[in-house]
Amino acid sequence: MIDKGSLIILSGPSGTGKGTLLAEFKKVYGSESIVYSVSDTTRAPRPGEIPDVSYHYITNEEFNIKKENGGYLEYASFCENQYGTPKKFVLDNLEKGIDVVLEIETVGARKVKESYPDAVMVFILPPSLDELKRRLIGRATESMEIIEKRFEAAKEELKLAPLYDYVVVNDSIEKATYEFYSVITAERLKTKNNKKIISEVCK
Ligand code: 5GP
Repeated sequence: MIDKGSLIILSGPSGTGKGTLLAEFKKVYGSESIVYSVSDTTRAPRPGEIPDVSYHYITNEEFNIKKENGGYLEYASFCENQYGTPKKFVLDNLEKGIDVVLEIETVGARKVKESYPDAVMVFILPPSLDELKRRLIGRATESMEIIEKRFEAAKEELKLAPLYDYVVVNDSIEKATYEFYSVITAERLKTKNNKKIISEVCK
């Protein structure tokens, strides 16, 4: 008998290293009790991204149909592209007692929190704005115009960090990954998430 899994939301502006952090987390702390939602997006794949692993790349028309059919847990527009979290994958895993990580931006994160108040919200911060811009430029996967747009969006997103439950500063990937793992571990250990084992053992 297991309790439901926890819903973990990871947000932070482009360039804070969410992708790197999650890749490191999977490598070091990955287990069968945690899965990662793969979003749908209408944006084009970046070099190195793998379809259906990085994202499900779909057209605007496909996105709109799925949206109208209630297929998304949440969705949002970001820098002129649409992004959405497939609902069934998330709910099926939570039901099986598996924790689900969503790597999503702040508008979608707040929508999820409204529907699932128990969701744990983690915000990844860059060590500074200068460092964030350096990382965006260093990534060299987008034009300067897109980088500027993402930097402006980043500054807006950073204002929402205080609404999150936890903040992790990504100044060292090992430290940030460990801190993210600590948040998930603490959530798993909460008594409210262990009602079944408590009722079995503490009769
Ligand atoms: P990128 O284009 O850099 O991969 O993602 C842009 C932003 O969209 C990032 O902040 C990322 O976390 C967010 N994002 C990715 N998938 C989703 C999703 O399904 N829903 C929402 N709301 N945001 C998403």
